Amino acid sequence: MMFICDTMLGRLSRYLRMLGLDAPCANSPASAGAWEHTGLQPYFFTKRLKAPRYERTVHIRSDRIMEQLAEIRPIIAPHVMPEAVMSRCIECNVPLVATAREDVEHYIPEYIYHHYAGFKQCPSCKKVYWSGSHTEKMKKWIENIITNHQ
Ligand SMILES: [Zn+2]
Repeated sequence: MMFICDTMLGRLSRYLRMLGLDAPCANSPASAGAWEHTGLQPYFFTKRLKAPRYERTVHIRSDRIMEQLAEIRPIIAPHVMPEAVMSRCIECNVPLVATAREDVEHYIPEYIYHHYAGFKQCPSCKKVYWSGSHTEKMKKWIENIITNHQ
């Protein structure tokens, strides 16, 4: 399932990617890339009242990120898989690739290199993620979404 975020909802898209959801940014569902072949009609989150006519448009009311997430929580929660959390680049929406510590040495601070494991890298922008990339606040929030759904 794809969750297209209107270009003005860039921050929201980043939070959805953090959850492992496929969340591209686009002006309209038609410009979000190919999804017709999947047979699953994506959701389109927007704040525009005059958004493109589209069946699965969801109007976001709040300007605050946590409230926006609360608004769409019933829609996204069934699609959040614990094993998919932190599997996608927050910047590019591209699935991350597991990588050896030695291969990402030049992309990460020395402290991280020595104290963390489980490195993943974005094949597009080369950004490196590791277990612990998320703040405690983020982890709690993610756990909350997952556990309250199950
Ligand atoms: Zn990236």
